[in-house]
Amino acid sequence: PPSATPSPIQAYLDTLHREFSGLTAGEVATYIPELAKVAPDGFGIVLATVDGQVYEVGDARHAFSIQSVSKPFVYGIALEDNGRARVEQAIGMEPTGDPFNAISLEPGTGRPLNPMINAGAIAAAALVAGTTEAARLARVLDALSAFAGRPLDIDQAIFESERDTGHRNRAIGHMLRNYGIVDGDPEPALGLYFRQCAVRVDCRDLALMAATLANGGVHPATGQRAVRSEFIEPMLSLMTTCGMYDYSGSWVYNVGLPAKSGVGGGIIAVLPGQLGIGVYSPRLDERGNSARGVAVCRRISADLGLHFLQPP
Ligand code: GLN
Repeated sequence: PPSATPSPIQAYLDTLHREFSGLTAGEVATYIPELAKVAPDGFGIVLATVDGQVYEVGDARHAFSIQSVSKPFVYGIALEDNGRARVEQAIGMEPTGDPFNAISLEPGTGRPLNPMINAGAIAAAALVAGTTEAARLARVLDALSAFAGRPLDIDQAIFESERDTGHRNRAIGHMLRNYGIVDGDPEPALGLYFRQCAVRVDCRDLALMAATLANGGVHPATGQRAVRSEFIEPMLSLMTTCGMYDYSGSWVYNVGLPAKSGVGGGIIAVLPGQLGIGVYSPRLDERGNSARGVAVCRRISADLGLHFLQPP
């Protein structure tokens, strides 16, 4: 039953949603043919606290593909399965200032510069443990599900669409093989990467995944541990410096929260120890970030004073 006094947070989110519904800049991603079919005006905002409160507005339960928001989580799996030293040999930790799909590796080592661009994410997928492709996929799905607090599955049409057209990512996979970052045939790692990007989530899942990161790796509602606490710091560090592609520097300046976006239209932002934010709106700006998502996060950070470098 609706409570007698509506929460001020809920009222705030309702106002935000109303205001930013008017922002219709940007276009849905079309380079993955199946993504071009997405309804462009979907819009949800969800806030989840580490003590398990969830506030949602708009299309909070509308399913979409997670895309690059999967990257920090699979990086966390790679860390758990291999340890920091092995992962650091394969994947760097420098922002690139280049677009997410840049075919650029570190001179000399051939390492991808960080795990939030496609090259680094494909290298991370290659580090997921498991003796068969099915086992490695189950590892990823189980981990993402633990972060979300419910079983997640794959949007098969999105997966097949990217598998059949992802030739640029395939080229990146072969570059990684050339430098010995990926051993042998890169196709299994690419297959896992395309599937992880096609995992179906809603905006509420994103907020809870972010809240699980904020909560040191333990899901606020289920109490299940999704990743070892020692790996939260590297995950959030790279989200801070590299999570928003070539907008990452501006994002830290303007929003000041570890975050990750995906071309499906999702963004997560994390306030460690406090809360997770999920925004869904598939119209993207020229850098491939959700246009409304960026605007909404800027506003929330300013209104609630969430920038992590703000003086006490
Ligand atoms: N699957 C997408 C790709 O590799 C993910 C990119 C993204 O969300 N930025 O192109």
